[in-house]
Amino acid sequence: MRYKVAVLPGDGIGPEVTAQATRVLAAAGRRFGYDFSFQEGLIGGAAYDATGHPLPEDTLSLCRESDAVLLGAVGGPRWDHLPVHLRPEAGALLPLRKALNVYANLRPARVFPALAGASTLKPEIVRGLDILVVRELTGGLYFGDKRREDIPGGQRVVETLVYTTEEIRRVARRAFELARKRRKKLTSVDKANVLESSRLWREVVTFCAGDYPDVMVNHMLVDNCAMQLVRNPKQFDVLLTENLFGDILSDQAAQLTGSLGMLPSASLGDGVGLYEPIHGSAPDIAGRQIANPIAAILSGALMLRYSFGLEEAAAAVEEAVTAVLDEGYRTPDIMEPGKTEVSTGEMGRLIAERV
Ligand code: ATP
Ligand code: MG
Repeated sequence: MRYKVAVLPGDGIGPEVTAQATRVLAAAGRRFGYDFSFQEGLIGGAAYDATGHPLPEDTLSLCRESDAVLLGAVGGPRWDHLPVHLRPEAGALLPLRKALNVYANLRPARVFPALAGASTLKPEIVRGLDILVVRELTGGLYFGDKRREDIPGGQRVVETLVYTTEEIRRVARRAFELARKRRKKLTSVDKANVLESSRLWREVVTFCAGDYPDVMVNHMLVDNCAMQLVRNPKQFDVLLTENLFGDILSDQAAQLTGSLGMLPSASLGDGVGLYEPIHGSAPDIAGRQIANPIAAILSGALMLRYSFGLEEAAAAVEEAVTAVLDEGYRTPDIMEPGKTEVSTGEMGRLIAERV
């Protein structure tokens, strides 16, 4: 079976980490007999420098024709002075997500046994942690009307929060499907004591729950959820929430694991999926082969699982990461005394070998 993957390395450490992710995917292909073809496209500052646009039309058509997209990272101080629509983030990432119509952002936060000491929380609170935040990506305050007007004594701003039943339903169903394949527990997060949109959210999630009797559902207010995430995060399996709450909670959940360089993400719609590490382009360490490629490699594992349905290959990549960490190999960001420090490329090679 042949799978076509669009690879968008982007800026900063993006090219360094995506090179290791494709290396590991290729190894998984060799082991399980799949043929992955990788085609590179320009995005972000790199694309702006070469073409004058952060998301060239060629890149968009490459993505649309592929089976999945692997993205490194975009942005950096060199492009911060540009007008917003040409900046790598606003001019490339948001339009790419929109073009692919991805509406569910998945962020697994997992604590690897070898790294339980790296969290800022006590090891007993996070050891074995394995949660999945599912964030709605196309609605809410991000995309509502925004207005600013002068009034006596200052200004008045209006932001609108829009959700439709269908927008809630499609992401909710996605989250239920995911919960069904995990520990069958879904927590829907909202602010139904204050927001009308949250009341609709709760109604739709409750309605969808009828189709998934095997999944245990509870509803939690977002303020309580923020507290529970640092108090007893292991009570959660899948967390489902709207765009802005999800933005905040997924960063919080990520931090529980203590290592930005370890966390992958997937953005899914009904077509091509987009996979990227949650970290940014890290210009401060770019070009030195010291970045941790594991977030990008695990994003590749998510691609195998969610876009291609190759669960066995996805698990093999995740087990290889676990094994290499258990053997004591560390990039500098997760280095501890007594462990073996390796470069970006060495980490990728070790993981590919274990696969
Ligand atoms: P963005 O605005 O794109 O999210 P940011 O400035 O918030 O970017 P990052 O670019 O992710 O955040 O970098 C934050 C810090 O984490 C930096 O000091 C960076 O060096 C470090 N960092 C990020 N990713 C990695 C990685 N893969 N390996 C090692 N260190 C990393
Ligand atoms: Mg950031």
